[in-house]
Amino acid sequence: MEQKSVFELILSGELDSEIIYEDDEIFAINDINPVAKVHILIIPKRKIETINDTSLEDQNLLGKMILVAKDLAKKHNINQSGYRLLFNTNSDAMQTVFHIHLHLIGGEKLKNI
Ligand code: 5GP
Repeated sequence: MEQKSVFELILSGELDSEIIYEDDEIFAINDINPVAKVHILIIPKRKIETINDTSLEDQNLLGKMILVAKDLAKKHNINQSGYRLLFNTNSDAMQTVFHIHLHLIGGEKLKNI
């Protein structure tokens, strides 16, 4: 069997991390190594290794991930101050976990990218 990603281990409870949002397709956790005051990962329950592996079939899932991020930004009261959403893909972007996840980063002034 293919090795489970760290996020699958969290979802199954084999690795400890508070799940701060969950529905039938998506869950969210606080990043273990936050780069800003708010740093949340929005993750599909089904492992897709990189954004390169997505297709038209995933468009609702990907759209829903953004909507969940938007709702979490509001819940954390950073929707007006601002936030950043990003997917790292492969080595030049320093992707380290090969199970797609949307970073929601904010709560303070971010450096320009
Ligand atoms: P990537 O670099 O792949 O875009 O982001 C992976 C993110 O997952 C990193 O920001 C890293 O800190 C986070 N991460 C890795 N392992 C764990 C973990 O066990 N728990 C949590 N909550 N976050 C993790």
